[in-house]
Amino acid sequence: MQSTFRDFIPAGKGHWAAASDSEWNDWSWQLRNRVSRLDQLSSKLLLTPDELAGVAFSETKLALGITPHYFNLIDPNDPLCPIRQQVIPREGESIQSPGELLDPCGEDESMPVPGLVHRYPDRVLFLVTDRCAAYCRYCTRSRVVSGVGEQHLETDFARAINYLKEHTEIRDVLLSGGDPLLLSDQKLQTILKAIRDIPHIEFIRIGSRIPIFLPQRITPALVAMLKEFHPLWMSVHTNHPKELTTEVQAALGRLADAGIPLGNQAVLLKGINDDPEILKTLFQKLLRCRVRPYYLYQCDLIQGSAHFRVPIQRGLEIMEQIRGHTTGYAVPQYVVDGPGGGGKIPLNPDYVVAKEPDRWILKNYKGELFEYREPATEGEEVIRPLVKEPAAC
Ligand SMILES: *Cc1c(COP(=O)(O)O)cnc(C)c1O
Repeated sequence: MQSTFRDFIPAGKGHWAAASDSEWNDWSWQLRNRVSRLDQLSSKLLLTPDELAGVAFSETKLALGITPHYFNLIDPNDPLCPIRQQVIPREGESIQSPGELLDPCGEDESMPVPGLVHRYPDRVLFLVTDRCAAYCRYCTRSRVVSGVGEQHLETDFARAINYLKEHTEIRDVLLSGGDPLLLSDQKLQTILKAIRDIPHIEFIRIGSRIPIFLPQRITPALVAMLKEFHPLWMSVHTNHPKELTTEVQAALGRLADAGIPLGNQAVLLKGINDDPEILKTLFQKLLRCRVRPYYLYQCDLIQGSAHFRVPIQRGLEIMEQIRGHTTGYAVPQYVVDGPGGGGKIPLNPDYVVAKEPDRWILKNYKGELFEYREPATEGEEVIRPLVKEPAAC
């Protein structure tokens, strides 16, 4: 089973076999034909009682929405299918566990302007829409995303652009949401142009899951528009190698061909990817798509997330089984977003076994020990010059 995840397999038309090629390849057709209601879902899948309870609850918290492309990746015979668990609600979403928060990363308190989160000294997070092509059940921003909850995102674009102009310390703007690529080419172009026109903004990036949920959206016209705003980077979001279909690979290829450096942000999710072999396959497959694994996130303390969360200790063990065991480029940084607004905090397995004034004892990926001698402090040790002996004749 796992070996098949290495291969790029088309999602194909699957449940939508009656669609024409032009319909199937049209991103607005994909959006119009999303699975977003219980009747549509249960006509295609036999739901478990756990899922039925989850779907009923989703109407008040985070909408149900799955694109046909992504839906076709669900294995109908496996209730634990890693695709299914990411997008079909379960009852756990309605259960609040200790420590869980409505705004787990404390974003609302760091918004100088509605929709603009300014936490770090030199960069901002700009939330440009509250909608996505499909909804991840562990969404960190479910309090404002999808439009069905009580709280709403009210981004003030004019004030946000003014804030960026006035704050010359900001050199990096990260567009997120919701999914920025759900905006029309024209709207996105207007936003990118307003940002690019600010001289002190050096770096723009877009956070998007659309290449995975809706690869049809990555049209030649979109990439031609995006490449006018270089240096423009993109962080995509993939959690499981099965998500990297032939269509997704092609969409990522179009972005890479436009010179957009691609990174991946994955979330460590129980029963989905909390396994070193699955993650290693994902990360290696991403490199084949010219995507550099950037972060592996510890799942945020979002309300109703306990059924998704993996202990940090397990996350560290998984990282230990990846680092050194494969290409360095394939290894992301494991991070936890400090609950309540701490920002991203790196989590690393410990490779330092002992630390003495003159030497460190270090462990490699196989657990073997090595000694590294620090440079000698003055008078401590005689350092002999390396003099070449004259050659004997
Ligand atoms: C993640 C994040 C960023 C970007 O952080 P990087 O480590 O530079 O990727 C910026 N602002 C906020 C509020 C964030 O959550």
